[in-house]
Amino acid sequence: MPKIDLHTHSTFSDGTSSPEEVVRMALKSGIKLLALADHDTTDGVSRAQQICAEHAVLFTPAVEISTCEHDHLHFTGYRLDLTNQEFQNFLNQNRENRKNRILKIIHQLAQAGVPITEEDVFSRAPNTVSRAHVADALKAKKIVSTRQEGFKKYLVPGCVGYVPSTGVTAVEAIKNIKKAGGIAVIAHPGMVREIWDFPAWKEAGLDGIEVFYPAHTFTLKQELLALARKYGLFCTGGSDYHGPHGGRITSPGMEIPQTHYNRLLSKLF
Ligand SMILES: [Zn+2]
Ligand SMILES: [Zn+2]
Repeated sequence: MPKIDLHTHSTFSDGTSSPEEVVRMALKSGIKLLALADHDTTDGVSRAQQICAEHAVLFTPAVEISTCEHDHLHFTGYRLDLTNQEFQNFLNQNRENRKNRILKIIHQLAQAGVPITEEDVFSRAPNTVSRAHVADALKAKKIVSTRQEGFKKYLVPGCVGYVPSTGVTAVEAIKNIKKAGGIAVIAHPGMVREIWDFPAWKEAGLDGIEVFYPAHTFTLKQELLALARKYGLFCTGGSDYHGPHGGRITSPGMEIPQTHYNRLLSKLF
């Protein structure tokens, strides 16, 4: 089965590897098709694209957009026109909203006696800031020992540092991807099973489902494949690689069946 990865992150958002390092890891894994899908920014894309071109790896410009409906309801956009100014303004606004959320988190943590400063967090995030940077700052101050512990103890619902997502709605995320000439995919649907709304997402223009994902069980994949058939959606695969220190899967790449790979290529190129 061909190995691809349409879902990776770099230091332009909450990954711990540069775009070049992400591509190098992808090359090592024998990937045929790659996308760098950083959160709310496409600024790292051209760097990854260039190395892929040098090594004859297929590449599509991508992004991952967060929504306000759930901390894990995300949509990835592919085949984007990165020069679309309206879309770049949209991403810019999302990054501003993220900053405001993080400022509130820092304020709440300070009020609870957790000594984290704006500098501690924002110095780690040259482009898109996220809760992962707060967790990393907590780790650097030895308040927690891993990024995951930082989330679990301080940043998820019920914790002192939790502030709800400031993202757009699902429909807005999908529509903005489409307006930039892109194709819209629901990322890791297994993480948001309780709020699935495929009829509404399809109506907004959803094109695909990320079926092949590390945390998806065999049963869940069968269910997603059936949904893809029902709604006429194509299937993608991605690892959500965040670099070797991201606390997740340690190398990029997901195997996908040849028929889905062929269909994907016809959609992307
Ligand atoms: Zn995501
Ligand atoms: Zn992701």
